[in-house]
Amino acid sequence: MTSRITWTCTPCDTPVDDGKGYLSVDLTAVAEHERAWDELDERKRETGRRGVTASELADMPEHVTWEAAHTKCVPESNTYDIPIDAVRTHAYVIEQTAHMMEKSWIGATNWTSVLRWCALQ
Ligand SMILES: [Zn+2]
Repeated sequence: MTSRITWTCTPCDTPVDDGKGYLSVDLTAVAEHERAWDELDERKRETGRRGVTASELADMPEHVTWEAAHTKCVPESNTYDIPIDAVRTHAYVIEQTAHMMEKSWIGATNWTSVLRWCALQ
């Protein structure tokens, strides 16, 4: 484990220096993810079912992916952004995780995968 985490820009595949980018997640996709699960819960309530079918599960959206990127490499959009320097060390990532756990929508994202990836850096 190194003390600094190197984040790579998804669009250009080069490292993102402090002050030059963000770790971001698309909030529009997060809202769509949450709506799909809410609708499934509503169908279950209406029919009195407890479980879901394999086909229903297969139709559900994937977790929304966090991506690192340079500010200059991505268009302005509806994202939740964490400055890259705020996730530069493992201690910072733990601090951000504590903050993210207060977000109702964090489960719609792949933050768990981000943590697993960070643990290997
Ligand atoms: Zn880039």
